[in-house]
Amino acid sequence: MATLSRDRRRGPYEAAVLRVLRECGPVSRTRVGELTGLSAATVSKAVSAMVGSGLVREGGVTEPRMGRPAVALVPAVDAVTVCGVQVEYGTIRLALADAEARVRSTRSVPFDVTAPAAEVLDLVAAEVSALVAADSGAPCIGLAVGLPGAVDEARRVNRLTINLGWRDVPVADHLERALGVPVVVDHHVRLMALGETRRGGTARDAIAYLYVRRGVGLGIAAAVPQRYAAGPSGESFLGHTRVAENGVLCRCGSRGCLETVVAEPYLRARMHGAGHRITPETPVLPELHRLAAEGDPAAVEIETDVAGHLAAALATVVNLFTPDLVLVGGMVAEAPDRVVTRIRELTRERIFPLLREDFRLEPAPSSDEASLRGAAALALEVSYYS
Ligand SMILES: [Zn+2]
Repeated sequence: MATLSRDRRRGPYEAAVLRVLRECGPVSRTRVGELTGLSAATVSKAVSAMVGSGLVREGGVTEPRMGRPAVALVPAVDAVTVCGVQVEYGTIRLALADAEARVRSTRSVPFDVTAPAAEVLDLVAAEVSALVAADSGAPCIGLAVGLPGAVDEARRVNRLTINLGWRDVPVADHLERALGVPVVVDHHVRLMALGETRRGGTARDAIAYLYVRRGVGLGIAAAVPQRYAAGPSGESFLGHTRVAENGVLCRCGSRGCLETVVAEPYLRARMHGAGHRITPETPVLPELHRLAAEGDPAAVEIETDVAGHLAAALATVVNLFTPDLVLVGGMVAEAPDRVVTRIRELTRERIFPLLREDFRLEPAPSSDEASLRGAAALALEVSYYS
């Protein structure tokens, strides 16, 4: 049975060595010295301690650049585990992951969306404990929580989640008291983007992730964290950019926000207004796309509007951040190919001409999976690699 336990006090250079091994793969002690700028004696001492405590293993030999091959150091990815949590409307999802953010086990549980935040967080703590107790691996040293809402700069407080009625909820303090390990909180779509940069355990690309479901969220993350060091973290408020003058009232209190023309609850209302029988149980998007494919004029108009508004928003994102890849998740990822193709082509038309050739937009693979992997990656960043 695994346990929750704050990472033991580590030597001053261990995080630097771990980062080198994560980013550069198996390397010799000499190369660790070159990459960290530490002296041979310091590296030797730090590495010996790490081999002794099981954080690093000696495995095989390195390709000699000159002279004889040296012993290669390999990170022990099973030396620790971390927990990633995603709180979505009515569902808590959890995953335990290894030191490369690869998920080992998952769990999910429903919750009452009208319950007070403290009650939901107590449930999160109980579920984390149960998930860890059911695992046989290394101690769980940290936790990150993704939420659909704004977080404070220090990633400790959920400032506002409209759907759940949460405001200034001290998520990290609450869970740290309950679990005894470091906790951070972030916007769920940023974690989806971060999770996609860690797909397959290896870091890749800079990603802009647009998630549309009950609302609209944008997350930006890069394989090389420095790339967006000065850029946005946490939530952006792209979904609340006004796109329709005198538009309908948004749940944020403003009018005509992007959300009010592309998010699910508003599309449901608009389909209803166009005379289509939409019950609360009707899956509104498959219905919308089916009717549009049949040529229903109202459905075609709504679908065209959605594609146009999303392309305009995405073009702004691409011009601002020039990501290597744009992923569209949530209900856009579930739309028929023709809709995704249309959004891609409309966006390409609107971005700066120099960017058009390299522009890539794809439907995102599972957002839940990406979000949990991203939460694990963030927990590792905070509890293990720094
Ligand atoms: Zn709004």
